[in-house]
Amino acid sequence: MSAFQHLKTVNKHRKLVRQGCFAVGLYKQGLLHDMSKYSPTEFWVGAKYYQGTRSPNNAEREDIGYSSAWLHHKGRNKHHYEYWIDYSIHNAPPGMHGMMPAPMPIKYIVEMLMDRVAACKVYNGDAYTNSSPMEYYNKGLDPAPMHPKTKAFLELFLRMLEVWGEEDTYAFIKENIVSRAKKFDDKDSLQFCLDFCERGQRRLKKDSLQHKGYLK
Ligand SMILES: [Zn+2]
Repeated sequence: MSAFQHLKTVNKHRKLVRQGCFAVGLYKQGLLHDMSKYSPTEFWVGAKYYQGTRSPNNAEREDIGYSSAWLHHKGRNKHHYEYWIDYSIHNAPPGMHGMMPAPMPIKYIVEMLMDRVAACKVYNGDAYTNSSPMEYYNKGLDPAPMHPKTKAFLELFLRMLEVWGEEDTYAFIKENIVSRAKKFDDKDSLQFCLDFCERGQRRLKKDSLQHKGYLK
């Protein structure tokens, strides 16, 4: 049982997320991020399975087959895309209820980015680079249904972080994403979002080639 170490890890994680969220103007989310980790259900599981180098949830999964802490967590924290998985009554065959992702508001997609950056920093330590969150994402590509909007923005942000680094990425997100959230969250904005992300990816491709000296 490592209650103290677990508490320290949670606090450190929240501090890093707070810094990231503040940098893009998401103050309330920065302050309230992951508060449920202090609830007894999540806290004592985290303390029992404390690892230091990876999430205690995986240790709980290995032990009992699933993670009770994670189920509690993802049901309460909107920055996890899993929170937004509903069952659909529209596209499912008759008599069936398929699981379907609902579109995630852009401010929570941004918080998810900060969450991943912070988690990678805590677990990777000195080995952390601007590519670590992208590497983590690529390793974890699971069959869980991520909404196309969520996926497009998350992949754009992760790539941006790799090519531009934190400061420029966060400045871009603050100016062009967070302040225009309404535009991205409109009920009919999916195509607009996908086009926006595709243009961003094209620009990043050019930028990364420039960085490598392929273009003058
Ligand atoms: Zn979380």
